Formats: sequence, C-alpha cells, structure tokens
Amino acid sequence: MRSLLTALFALSACFQSVLSAESLPNLTVLLSVEGKASAAALAELKSELNEIMKNAGRKLDVRLREESVSHENFDDVVLVRLKGTCTMERLTPFMDERGPLAWTHSTDGVILPFAEVACDRIARAVAGAMWGEERKEADRLLGRALGRVLAHELYHILGKTHEHNPDGSLAKEAISAKRLISPEPIAFDIRDLNRMMP
Ligand SMILES: [Zn+2]
Repeated sequence: MRSLLTALFALSACFQSVLSAESLPNLTVLLSVEGKASAAALAELKSELNEIMKNAGRKLDVRLREESVSHENFDDVVLVRLKGTCTMERLTPFMDERGPLAWTHSTDGVILPFAEVACDRIARAVAGAMWGEERKEADRLLGRALGRVLAHELYHILGKTHEHNPDGSLAKEAISAKRLISPEPIAFDIRDLNRMMP
C-alpha cells in the first residue's frame, strides 16, 4: 500500500508540473536594433532576461524583430527598441550620460507594451564600472546590464505600474552601473513578481 501511495504521489506531482508549464501564457519580446549591436551582448541579454523572468509566470521568447514572421500571431508581445550602439567597441564620445537608461510609454496613464533602451548610455555607464579582466568580456557584461535594465522595464509593463519598490533589487528607481554588471545574480522580490503575474 505504501509503495502504491508513493507511486501515485509521484505521478500526480509529475502531472502537475506538466500542467503548470503547459498553461503558462507566452510572452514574446521583440528587439529592434537601431545601430550596431554585438552578438555577444545580444546573446547575454537574452539569457539574463530569461533567468530573471523565469519566475514571472510566463514562457518567455526573446528574439530580434526581423526573426518574426509577417502576420505572426502573438499571445502577448512587448516591443523593445535598442537605441544607439549596443557594443563596447564604439562608444560615442561626449554623449550626455545623465538621463534614463530605459523608459516605457503610456497613454492616459496606461503603460504601453513598448520599451526603449538607451544602449549608448548604458554602455558608457558600465564602461566606467569595469575593472581589469572585466574589460576583456566587456560586450558580454554590457549584455548582462541590458538584460537587467530590460527586466526592470518589463516589471513596469507587466505589472502595469509606474511605481518603484525602494526595498526591491530590480524594481527600485535606480540601479548602480556596478550592480548592472555584477556576477552576483539579481532577482525580483516576491512582491514584484506577484505584481507581474498574469
Ligand atoms: Zn522604473
């Protein structure tokens, strides 16, 4: 009897995990790249964003806009424009480094599923936070920073909120350049994850 119970329990646990994975809604994130972008930065952006968003209740599909088929139907889609140059190779000199790293748009207070990310500004900010060996993988670290910044914008879009969480890790108003490239993982707090749940 005991073994049967164990077996039944294992079966139901297995069935449950299949069910919950199947029932997660899709979220497609389409990136449109304005200037030159490093392949290493884009690959890292995708993996960092997937890692951060894995507990946000959606199946994430992050890809370049040109990889989408025309007339493709999406359950839910967020458009992201990567502005400027997304590589550490050609940093634009004399660019004003002040100002937001990314932003969303809203109409009548309602946040639209559209984010803009200032690649140049983020590249310049993280360049100043890199030391020694880190410079050898500068593009990959830029990608990590882009993923973290974009996750913050997804928090606003999916959570339908302009608010920040001063006690949160990623939903706070400002994140230092050092934290954007830090090897220490960064995650949303449970309160912020709940806000984003479908
Ligand atoms: Zn914000």
